Amino acid sequence: MHWLNITHEPRLLTCVYCGQSGRFRHVKSYFYENETFSLHACSKCNSLIYDLTDIDAPIVSQADLVGTEISREARCVIETGFSSYHVAECALSTLPDIPEHELRDHVFVDVGAGMGMASYFVKTLFGLKTVTVEPSYTGKLAQDILGLHVYRAYFENLPKEVLDELANKPCLLQLNSVIEHLVDPAAVLADMIDRAQVKVLAAVVPDGMAMDFDSPFLSALPFLAPRDHRHLPSKLGMELLLKRLGFQYVSVEATYGLITGVGSRSPFPFPSERTIKLAEHVFLENLLRHPNQLVASGGASRLLPTAVINNNAPLTAQLVAFFPYEEKSADILAKVAARSWDDLPFHLGPTCYWLAYNALREGRVDGALALLQISKAFADVIADDYPTLAMTALEFKWAALLLESQTLAAQGKAAAAEAPLRAILDSKSNAKHGARALYIRQAETDLKALRTRAEDARLSAIA
Ligand SMILES: [Zn+2]
Repeated sequence: MHWLNITHEPRLLTCVYCGQSGRFRHVKSYFYENETFSLHACSKCNSLIYDLTDIDAPIVSQADLVGTEISREARCVIETGFSSYHVAECALSTLPDIPEHELRDHVFVDVGAGMGMASYFVKTLFGLKTVTVEPSYTGKLAQDILGLHVYRAYFENLPKEVLDELANKPCLLQLNSVIEHLVDPAAVLADMIDRAQVKVLAAVVPDGMAMDFDSPFLSALPFLAPRDHRHLPSKLGMELLLKRLGFQYVSVEATYGLITGVGSRSPFPFPSERTIKLAEHVFLENLLRHPNQLVASGGASRLLPTAVINNNAPLTAQLVAFFPYEEKSADILAKVAARSWDDLPFHLGPTCYWLAYNALREGRVDGALALLQISKAFADVIADDYPTLAMTALEFKWAALLLESQTLAAQGKAAAAEAPLRAILDSKSNAKHGARALYIRQAETDLKALRTRAEDARLSAIA
């Protein structure tokens, strides 16, 4: 599981986004689960196209996976896996700027819905009629947990009952993490547009141009998802795909490693970041009150960073009550060491980081340091056991080490404060899951500041 330092000749490939065919430049190859995968860049739009001749193993269909593993994956999605910002961004982008009573004549079509969060979002916030389609076992959970009616079907093969639901009604189609899995997205989407009145299409996809091939492999793995992902668009590629589908009004935004593309039949304003964050906040507060404990704690863990950063004391106190990890830190750390996945929430790494941040603000240094230990230990075990789900936890491991060092330095423990920084710098040689460049740079800066301070102290002692 690592990047490969090899080069290929350009290969004759076709870009599924802009339609260009030609000899595409080889960008990067990697080795994953005993196979080599190669990515090439479209000569017109720079989208990343897999050379599928590399992929000889059959693509595992999610619908065939049932049992504990997929339930655990689904639990991970609820607890930390989906980005509530992008759920809000993509869902809001599909809603035309018309009065609410007119909006109610439209159908919100959520294909490849996963846990159905987008359907749940427009249903609870706007009262819209939704048609939710998800082939995998996660779709069943969306039905059981969120009470959505979910059609278990693939986008390439929508059953008649779904098409009947869409007949003669303006459709607002949203695709969150679907397009990158389709063999021929243009053909599948054109077919859908032929059969239904698609007024707006909004899609979220990983941003091919945001792939950081200089960082350790695990930080990129969730966007690559080999065998499952087939291509990753650039902003231009997404724009050209939407235009090829006949949308007159197209807008494409890239944020936090993902692209949101919107095609519409009429002019529309792309929702502002402020609007998205406001809607996201209301949505998460609704989740917080959900009777299912997993849904509620997933909402709480997503609300915690903003509550802490904005110093919103009442909300922070409410959220901290969900996570009594500071009092039980020894117990939790033992569960992490034992890899008791049934008792460990997948958001444990980031949650402990933000709880530590809050504990420091409230003056509980020992409590904060214990929480940071959990954050670090959790990242190491999840990187071993669930590498595809480890990206966020690893980010917070490096952040936790930086915060630990700052805390020790503030306590006057200069020597001890160097150890966490050295752990970050030493990870540089770990090509699989070392720290990303930005953490290395920060550790270097902090180490220099620590040494300058120590030197100043020695000098003033002499003087
Ligand atoms: Zn292209």
